[in-house]
Order: sequence, then structure tokens, then C-alpha cells
Amino acid sequence: MNDINVTAYGSTDYVGRSAFHLSDRDHNILLDCGIQLVPKQFSIAPKGVDSIASTLDAVLLSHAHIDHSGYMPSLSRNGYRGNYYMTHPTKEIAYRLWLDHLKIEGQRHWGESDLDRVFHKIRTLNYDKTFKLADGITARFLNAGHVLGAAQILIDWEGRLILYTGDINDRITPMFDGYDVPEEDIDILLIESTNGDRYVPERSKINVGLRLIAKQLTAENHKMILPSFAVGRSQETLITLALDDDLNDVPIYMDGMINVMNMITEHFLSEKWVSKRFLAQLKDAGLNSPFEKSNFIPVHSISERTHAARRYIARNTEGSIIVTTSGMLEGGPVHTYLELCGDREENVVGFTGYQVDGTLGRSIYDGERDITLDNGRGRKKNIVLKSKVMKFPYSGHSSVDGLKHMMQATNAKDIILIHGDKRNQEYILNYVKDIAQPRLIKEGVETKLLSA
Ligand SMILES: [Zn+2]
Ligand SMILES: [Zn+2]
Repeated sequence: MNDINVTAYGSTDYVGRSAFHLSDRDHNILLDCGIQLVPKQFSIAPKGVDSIASTLDAVLLSHAHIDHSGYMPSLSRNGYRGNYYMTHPTKEIAYRLWLDHLKIEGQRHWGESDLDRVFHKIRTLNYDKTFKLADGITARFLNAGHVLGAAQILIDWEGRLILYTGDINDRITPMFDGYDVPEEDIDILLIESTNGDRYVPERSKINVGLRLIAKQLTAENHKMILPSFAVGRSQETLITLALDDDLNDVPIYMDGMINVMNMITEHFLSEKWVSKRFLAQLKDAGLNSPFEKSNFIPVHSISERTHAARRYIARNTEGSIIVTTSGMLEGGPVHTYLELCGDREENVVGFTGYQVDGTLGRSIYDGERDITLDNGRGRKKNIVLKSKVMKFPYSGHSSVDGLKHMMQATNAKDIILIHGDKRNQEYILNYVKDIAQPRLIKEGVETKLLSA
């Protein structure tokens, strides 16, 4: 049998620009092709992908997040003419994120015509269905429990089973009941390692806190601003608020790309893509969609003049919740809300996601209150943030127990840690040492898979 090799073009001992090339003498397959977002700078492409694009037999995408999908359209520019395999929700979400990327960064990595070519070559698949990639090689998507449509990718390479987890979550979240584990034993496991030494509380505990604060604040006619990632976290936060009847009369404003993602989510509310438990909860609440409640208000529905609508929301005397982009405060409508009502001590800014070093979100999270805002039209403004800052420790990634469980349950012989920072990976290596000896690989170096 041929040796199988893996080459990582990014996301080895850090998070960003995931792109993993599996190859043997006759075949080349690419798993994910992301870009790394860097605060205040242009994004970074995975180095080395351009030169292999034309040799690829198949390209698979685990989920839409830009650190997994953002560089994919460049493959067509560099000579790849084959198919792109992903789930249907991932296609819908990725397309919106790709268009958004073009708006933000322009044609630095790829252009509109590349995107068109990719779009026509996308093949969408459901979870748990085996499909052919090349002679002797098949693949299957498994639910990852991470965001809508997110998949782990299981590859049968001439009888050897390789599981690439993409991003996985073991926790019960509003829409999912954690990742699935394949029934068969796995030979090689490429596993994310985002959370190592970070404690991830149960969602239900964080949700209790979020709902309590939301009720208290709004009862006193104050405002809670929740900067949220458009894909995933904002829907989860909104669902948590929607399923609490005590908040039925509290206006919940939704601003930014969140509204588009809500519509995509609504489209896929079926057993195929979300958990039965969640669908039953919706049914019990008499809802077809969590976002259809009359107190859930897309900001653009108030007025075509968005700034006027935001001013109205920020300055009126009602208690309300504002769920808005961007999640790390690197731009977006959240800046307008901070400018208009961040000077009031009674209001709360609540973080619902991880804040990367170098972002405005991170500096506020760490205690900075003299901040510079950007109104999106190039005008900067310095303010002193007086609103209270609260931290809700949500994570879209598996706890360290969940990672250990995956290693144990799959019985993998060769385990490679990817997509996590060094400190977390060291912690994980120590934490699992009684059941498994994972290894790390070097970026850009072709590495032989051990059981192959
Ligand atoms: Zn992700
Ligand atoms: Zn990721």
C-alpha cells in the first residue's frame, strides 16, 4: 500500500488558515482552505496551497468559518477544476462570507470570477452519506456540533480511515447536542485543540446568567449590548433569549450580518441539520423559528436610514437588548452603539465569545476603557466606555474532556493535534497521556501518517 502523507499549510500550533493536504503517490485531496484574520492588518493566505491547486483530485470544506473557507476561491484561480464538497448550509453561509470578504479586502486573494467558478463546482451533501472522491477514496461528513452545517470529514483511503474533525464541540448548545463519533475505529485522527487550558462551563449555566442579567437590566430600562459573531454565536444567544418567556416583552434588536445568518438558519431548521431536542423546544414554544418572535426586531426593519434607527435604539428610554456585529469589535454597527450609549454606566456590554489578542474587544475585555471607535466611513472617535463590561464564557469548541473522549472513542492509532495554540496543546498532551500520545506536525512539511 502507498504511504499517505499530510501537509499542513496553516493551523498547526495556532488558529487560522486551516488547509490540510492529504496525498499519496497517485492522489491529492485538500481539507479546508482558510485565511487567517489578523487584527488591523490584511488577512494571511496559507502558504504553499497555490502550487498544489492544479494537482488536486478533490477539495472538501468542513464548515463556513473564514479561517477554514476564506482562501478556497483562489484554488480555481490557480488551476483547480474539480469539485468542492460541503454540506448545504455550509455552502449558503460560506457564499455570504466570501462576498463579505470581497467587500472588506477586495480582490487581494481572489476575485469575483474565481468565486463564480467555485460556486458552480460545489457539490452539497448530507451528514452520514458516503461519496466518492477518487478511485479507492471515499468520504463522509459527520455532525460536528460546532455551527450550522459544520462537519467532521471521515475519509476511507483504500481501507485506511482518516478522521479530520474540523472544529468540534462536545457541549449541548441551543441547536446541537454535541459532535458525533463514527462507529468504526479510526486509524488516523486530525483533531482540533482550541481549548486546552481554558475551562468551558456547561452552556446551561452560562445561559442562566445571561437571562438573569438581561431581565434585571431591561426591567430597569437599561440596555445590554451583546457584540456577537454573525455565524453561530449570535443565533445561539438569540435562541437562548427567545426560549425565555419572561423576555417576551423586551425588544431584542438584531443588527449587521446576523440577520442574513438568521434567515439561512431558519431555512435549515429540520432534523437533518439541528437536534430533535431543539426542534421539540421550538414546537413547545409554538414557534416555527426562534427569530420570528414579535419582540425580535431586525434594525433595518425600523427605518431605511440605519443610522437614525440605531440612534433611536441607543437613545430611547426603553430597556432593550442589542445583538450586533462584530464579535470582537473590530468594526461593524457595535461601534455606533458604543458611541451612542456606551457612556451610560447603567448599561452593559456583554462579551459572548473569545477575544483575540490585538482586537478592540480584547483590550476592553482586559480592562481598557479609553477606546477609539470607527464609524465605518473612515471617521474615528475616542470615547471613554463607562458601561459595565461582563463576560459570558461561551465557546464553540470542545472542552478538553471532549477532546480526550474523541481520542478514546475513535481508538485512533495516530493522533495529530492541530488548530490550537502551543500552550493549549501542551496541556492537552499531558491531560490525555494515559490514553493517547498525540503528536504535532510542522507547517509546510510533508509528514507521513503513521498507520499508513
Ligand atoms: Zn469554526
Ligand atoms: Zn476554526
